[in-house]
Amino acid sequence: MNLFELTKSLMNIPSLSGDEEAIGFFLWDHLQSLGWTVELQAVSGNQNNVIAYLNDTPRVWLSTHMDTVPPFISPTEDDEKIYGRGACDAKGIIAAQITAAEELRRKGVEDIGLLYTVEEERASTGARVANEHPLAAKCEYLINGEPTDNDLAIGSKGAFRAMIRTTGKAAHSAYPEQGDSAIEKLLDILEDVRHTKFPHDEFFGETTVNIATLDGGVALNVIPPNAEAGLLIRLTTPMEPIRDALVSLIRGRGELDMLSYSLPVRMLAVEGFEQKVVRFTTDIPHLDKWGRPLLLGPGSILVAHTKDEFVLKRDLEIAVELYVNLVKSLTAETQRHGDL
Ligand SMILES: [Zn+2]
Repeated sequence: MNLFELTKSLMNIPSLSGDEEAIGFFLWDHLQSLGWTVELQAVSGNQNNVIAYLNDTPRVWLSTHMDTVPPFISPTEDDEKIYGRGACDAKGIIAAQITAAEELRRKGVEDIGLLYTVEEERASTGARVANEHPLAAKCEYLINGEPTDNDLAIGSKGAFRAMIRTTGKAAHSAYPEQGDSAIEKLLDILEDVRHTKFPHDEFFGETTVNIATLDGGVALNVIPPNAEAGLLIRLTTPMEPIRDALVSLIRGRGELDMLSYSLPVRMLAVEGFEQKVVRFTTDIPHLDKWGRPLLLGPGSILVAHTKDEFVLKRDLEIAVELYVNLVKSLTAETQRHGDL
């Protein structure tokens, strides 16, 4: 199966987060037929990470995730592009990595593994489980794939998810003095969130806040007794200064419920590759036992998660070359270190 056929075959299998069983079986079967040793690592009853290798202790691994955001959009193509869900995030990347690995193999490089995770788009549950795999300790470099326009990402922001909840007192809305509006309290807090300059970092850039969800109240004629807002903050610093800033701006008017966070990560820079910092987060913070991380992939994050997701066929081909060159320079590097 060539690069584009493999991309489309993967895209034809729906794999929304939580529903990755079929794509895992497909990759298991496909990689076995190419002669790889393949393990399915159970994450839940119907979700498995795919772990494939050629020798017993590969030092360089290529990895990305198998799940996608909704909705499923089946693949279409023209001469230049492949369109549909997963084109660049991240099924085109899986296809480019497998094609690169096969090319390396033909050139006698067998010191490589492939790691494909579930649930990256939700809570990186698959990566957390993969982090406990015994082969992680033998891995020296983990080349993760996400759409970076084929640039080498040397930094990625973290993500901090939290809810702000307010409570008040319900009352007949004709007698507002009898009640206490949770929504008005929440709006005051959110106004302060919008006007707060959060700590930032010179290397990773600005800390940005998305007030993403808003919920509250019971009926038009009732003073609302409760309200909540969901925030996703792109972290460029440790989590604590941002949490402390939120607590101090809330000043007892509501409660901060921290849901989860991942820290910003610095990744390995390699000479000869275009470099940049990306604003999104990846599985990498949860794969910290898998050696030093690198991040590169074809396609643009700006079309990922949209109905217009696509990848340029030419970019898929370039990604194959880049993955081959990266693995070669990393294995050469390891060789040199080994000689010291
Ligand atoms: Zn992705």
